[in-house]
Amino acid sequence: MMNKKNRVCVVGSINMDVVTTTRKMPKQGETVLGKDFRTYPGGKGANQAVAASRLGSDVTLIGAVGDDVFGHDLLTHLSEEGIRTEGITVIPNVPTGVANIILTNNDNRIIVAPGANHHVTPEVVKQHRKLIEQSDVVLLQLEIPLETIAYTVDLAYELGNDIILNPAPFQTLPEHILRKVTYLTPNETEAEAMGLTKLDIDIKHKIVMTLGERGVHFMKDDMMIPAFSVPVVDTTGAGDTFNGAFAHQLANKQPIEQIIRRANAASALSVTKMGAQGGMPTALEVEQFLT
Ligand code: ADP
Repeated sequence: MMNKKNRVCVVGSINMDVVTTTRKMPKQGETVLGKDFRTYPGGKGANQAVAASRLGSDVTLIGAVGDDVFGHDLLTHLSEEGIRTEGITVIPNVPTGVANIILTNNDNRIIVAPGANHHVTPEVVKQHRKLIEQSDVVLLQLEIPLETIAYTVDLAYELGNDIILNPAPFQTLPEHILRKVTYLTPNETEAEAMGLTKLDIDIKHKIVMTLGERGVHFMKDDMMIPAFSVPVVDTTGAGDTFNGAFAHQLANKQPIEQIIRRANAASALSVTKMGAQGGMPTALEVEQFLT
């Protein structure tokens, strides 16, 4: 049994990705026969929690699922990934969050129905205050209500936690929230949407911008840390792996350059396999990759 000591609390979304593959995308009003159908555990909160847990952090996830088949399947899955699930509320009469994904060879259409994720209210976080108190790092994304993000950041700041905010999918955030965050981890598109040139220096210096195969730009030291060159199979979940790994390393109190290098290694490994969670590496796999 791995000795888990880095404590990461993720407050975020839990989805089932419902994926249909088809040769032909249906037009308006048309029905086509598809090729395949699968479900995959997803949601940025859950994905990032899995990434940190596989690397050996003691991870607790605060979120919500519906009292339905997907919800119960996801709870089992997260427990099997070694994630503590006491912070996950099962909400009656509300569906579990679902991402409906239709894939053809050269196209995809996605509809996200947030379901229970919209019910992760400040009250839910308040009930699990202890889980935040007991953690070293709090990790958030933007797939739950903004008022909950604001409440959690205020609480975690007051408790002296390090806070990582992955501003994805992008939404405009109030400045007082950005000020309390330790690190912001946008990808290139999200960084552009944040309006980098208009941000004041204190906020800019918190930004760790991921640049896909080009690596990462840490703005404070104007430091570029290149990505690892790997054979790419599927880049879905690269950012989630990066964030989970970043939180794991930050909880482990590593210097920032080390944190980013190791998060780069974990996310490079993740793109060599199919699926968001499918390619997330263990600590041993990262070690072997780096030696
Ligand atoms: P997102 O998935 O959120 O769009 P990025 O595409 O910026 O995020 O990827 C996040 C991180 O994953 C990158 O900073 C890099 O470390 C790693 N990564 C992504 N794509 C590749 C790639 N093709 N080769 C190696 N590493 C990659």
